[in-house]
Order: sequence, then C-alpha cells, then structure tokens
Amino acid sequence: MAADVAAAASGHEFRERMLFTHRGLSGPAILQISSYWEPGTSVRIDLLPRVDILAEQIARRGERTETKTIVAAHLPKRLTDLWFKRNVQSRPVATASDRELERLAGALHNWEILPRGIEGYEKAEVTAGGVDTDDLSAKTLEVRAVRGLHFIGEVVDVTGHLGGFNFQWAWASGHAAGKAL
Ligand SMILES: Cc1cc2nc3c(=O)[nH]c(=O)nc-3n(C[C@H](O)[C@H](O)[C@H](O)COP(=O)(O)OP(=O)(O)OC[C@H]3O[C@@H](n4cnc5c(N)ncnc54)[C@H](O)[C@@H]3O)c2cc1C
Repeated sequence: MAADVAAAASGHEFRERMLFTHRGLSGPAILQISSYWEPGTSVRIDLLPRVDILAEQIARRGERTETKTIVAAHLPKRLTDLWFKRNVQSRPVATASDRELERLAGALHNWEILPRGIEGYEKAEVTAGGVDTDDLSAKTLEVRAVRGLHFIGEVVDVTGHLGGFNFQWAWASGHAAGKAL
C-alpha cells in the first residue's frame, strides 16, 4: 500500500506502511506492532488514518458516486475491490443510509484482526529478549557479578523501534564496552 495505516495493539499504535504478502501482513507498521502484540489478542488496523471517510461520504451525497469509488481514491484498487467483496456492498452514496455509511467507515477505520502467529526468529529483525539489563553496568555493559565479562548489542534485552535503533544500540554499546576494557 502506498499510504500509511495505523496499527494498534496492547496500548501502542504505529502509523506506517503496511504490506500484504502471500503469507499475511508485513511492512513497517506490522513489524513495529508485533513487538507489542500478545498471542491470542487482536490487532486493530485503521486503513485510512488520515481520512475521515464518513464525513467524505456524507459530503458527497449530492453526487452520483458509488461508495466504493470514494474509498478507491484512498486505497489501492485490488485492495478496495477485495475489501468491498468481503465486507460491504458498494452502492450509490446518495441512497446509502447514515447507518450504512457509519458501518462502512467503522470497518475501514477499525479492521480488527486476530493474528494466528508470527514468522518466528527466521524472519525477525530483533530478538526482543536476552541478557537482563539490570545485571549489567549501564556505563560499561560489564556483568555486575562477573568482572571482565561484557554483553553488548542484540544479545542484551534491548529492543529498538525500526529505523536503525538496533544498529545504533549494537554500535553504541560495543563502543562503551570497548572503551571500558
Ligand atoms: C533481516 C534483518 C533486518 C534488520 N534490519 C535492521 C535495520 O534496518 N535497522 C536496525 O537498526 N536493525 C536491524 N536489524 C537488527 C540488527 O541487524 C541487529 O540488532 C544487529 O545487527 C545486532 O548486532 P550484534 O553485533 O549485537 O549481533 P549480530 O549482528 O548478530 O552479530 C553477531 C555475530 O556473531 C557471530 N557469531 C555467532 N556465534 C558465534 C560464535 N560461536 N563464534 C563466533 N562468532 C559467532 C555471528 O555470525 C555474527 O556475525 C535487522 C535484523 C535482521 C535479521
């Protein structure tokens, strides 16, 4: 998809791009929210976080436009076609009731999915776990209980958001540990 979505779970939300793959959902928004998602819980996706689709449909009631045509201006065509096929029937916006438009908007802004699982370490960008930071010196990354033993980078329980923060942590912690030796 070209535009951002908002993906929310466990009190966190990320507005980034989303990708439909042959195996499920991916892309930055999904990778980010996966760090907070708990198995068995749902992820809420707003497919149009920058658009008030209900207000737009109501404002265009005077036109001979289909509800689907209005949505298609904001989403890729194949997604729009499939989404309407699965969720609601397109109809002239002039004859759609408030309730129908509200249902359509609600479904687009609150698409709730229950993920079956994640792809695991094979595809993960970060392990989200590792050596407890409480056991390490914040300055030198040395294990408090074992002199001369340092842990840095990915093996430590530090998880960065997408955008180079995990690289930054690996380099910065390595630098700090190296300076202390
Ligand atoms: C597909 C993918 C994409 C990513 N994209 C990003 C990104 O865009 N931005 C970002 O910030 N982070 C990204 N990450 C995360 C980032 O790559 C890691 O957080 C970072 O590389 C961790 O650095 P590290 O030095 O701690 O560990 P690593 O880079 O994993 O280095 C550990 C090294 O130790 C070697 N090793 C393992 N066991 C032994 C052994 N017994 N003896 C000798 N050597 C051994 C391994 O071969 C490896 O070279 C990505 C990760 C993946 C998998």
